Amino acid sequence: SQACIHIVDLQAAASREIARATGAEAGYVASGASACLLLATAAAITGCDPGRMARLPDTRGMKNEVVMVRSQRNFYDHAVRAAGATIIEVGLPDRYAGAGVRDAEAWEIDEAIGERTAAVFYVADPMARPLLPEVVGVAHRRGVPVIVDAAAQLPPTANLRRFIGDGADLVAFSGGKALGGPQASGILAGRRDLVMAAALQHQDLDIHWDLWEPPAGLIDKAALRGAPAHGLGRSCKAGKEEIAGLLVALKLFIAEGDAKRHAGWLADVERIAAGVAGLNDVAAEIVNASVVDAVPRLVLRLDRGRHDALAVTLALQHARPAVIVELEDRHGDTIVCNPLCLGSGEAATVGATLRAVLSVR
Ligand SMILES: *Cc1c(COP(=O)(O)O)cnc(C)c1O
Repeated sequence: SQACIHIVDLQAAASREIARATGAEAGYVASGASACLLLATAAAITGCDPGRMARLPDTRGMKNEVVMVRSQRNFYDHAVRAAGATIIEVGLPDRYAGAGVRDAEAWEIDEAIGERTAAVFYVADPMARPLLPEVVGVAHRRGVPVIVDAAAQLPPTANLRRFIGDGADLVAFSGGKALGGPQASGILAGRRDLVMAAALQHQDLDIHWDLWEPPAGLIDKAALRGAPAHGLGRSCKAGKEEIAGLLVALKLFIAEGDAKRHAGWLADVERIAAGVAGLNDVAAEIVNASVVDAVPRLVLRLDRGRHDALAVTLALQHARPAVIVELEDRHGDTIVCNPLCLGSGEAATVGATLRAVLSVR
């Protein structure tokens, strides 16, 4: 943080590291997965045209539609819309209504692709349908890039390469989730030309064209008609601290590996479970105990006659130190303890707090 270095040179080094870790042609760091998705969408809309970059988020006259499966819509897709894109929804996922078995199908995505399509946007999840290779298949046949939101898809470590391997053109990962990097960091990995377009819309470009010597590995100056001005993505600034911190986190994440990481999380979950052992109005179950490439969690089903899960969650939240559990259904009887953010020694505190809260109710 105290060394003076051109930030774009640091990004070029980050690009090489991210490429190595993901198998992508290039990579970039911005202030979160959401920021990376904004940059990715902007890149898909403008390509490396500086005039178009300057006009965003006004996308009149440009390809500005992004096709997305309806069941994958979520509030993070604000990042896509913020770039000036209109989301075209596809499919009617009646499997979620309990009224049917289907979600969107690849032919429906194909049907929604037209002259104005800038990208297909895919939110990765084990439940996501259609499968990514099918989506890539129809999109690429029509010459349209696929942007993947994989913000929370680590672990498994293999997912660093999986979506690129499946043919995605750009993939975003959160730096501040399981990677354990700076909270305000995210990885964008993908095609060289699209990463270049993202970089151009993110960098500070307060410079004379003749003096501008960007690193060739990240920005191909010869391919540009002129230097774009500060772009739409400037608001997604990442500092040297975030870039270096994220790269270190990425290295540590890969070096630790799924098995060792899982063993540490499992030990924490077991420590929490020990805290509630013997309480006869609580049924405890550890899920993913033997699935080394997933996060183990402690699922606590509370006896409805004795406990209100919402009230228990609030009481834990009000404890000091506060204990934050997941209440997946506001009307449900189940709370879930996720070890992802626990520091060393904190699992015992969580277990003791749970026991105290559940014993007085
Ligand atoms: C967390 C999350 C994001 C946002 O990630 P940040 O790194 O916090 O910007 C985007 N999409 C999905 C699916 C997420 O889970």
